[in-house]
Amino acid sequence: MAKQPLTLNVFIHEDLSDDSRRDLYNTHFSWFTDEIQKLSGRKLSVNMFTPSEAETLSGFDYKKISAASSLDAWAEKLRSHFGSVLLQDSHTRFNKYLLLTRDNINPSTMGIAQSKGYAGISSIRSDMVPAHEAGHMFGATHEDSEILYNGWWSETIMSDDDFSPLRSNANRFSDKNRENIRNYLDKPIAQRAVPRPQDDWDDD
Ligand SMILES: [Zn+2]
Repeated sequence: MAKQPLTLNVFIHEDLSDDSRRDLYNTHFSWFTDEIQKLSGRKLSVNMFTPSEAETLSGFDYKKISAASSLDAWAEKLRSHFGSVLLQDSHTRFNKYLLLTRDNINPSTMGIAQSKGYAGISSIRSDMVPAHEAGHMFGATHEDSEILYNGWWSETIMSDDDFSPLRSNANRFSDKNRENIRNYLDKPIAQRAVPRPQDDWDDD
């Protein structure tokens, strides 16, 4: 039997109205899609909603001094929009909901996501941030990130020290995080509601 496919639903914030959906996909999501599909053996669909296609979500007020409270409010907004399906592990394991923004949440936070949860917020300020936040939602961790050396240094997706201008982006997860994601996706589905996921945020 084919493995259950994955969706990453990306809500393009109003403040990115002037950006083209195709360009945003090409810079921030196409390579991530390849990486997830290759490591998991599952198809990943990135569904990008323009601001006018998801009006009630695209105007979300994400800029807060507390990134955690911004994420909580976003998760609550999603629950009131999509309903109780977001309380079911059988749905949220495979379907994630990311708000894509022009700016950081606050001066020190580029993005935040629930670890193994359904909700995340990411600015486009680095090409790797949306992949990083989606990585949290799919069970990857900072601890298992790596700096790779192949003639030059490159950062894997979950590196959490400052995105260093001296290193390139590896555009891949570390081997351990590839395994973390596979383990998360492949473990048996919980029958009851899962505990509230932890927040995991990222400093600029
Ligand atoms: Zn992180």
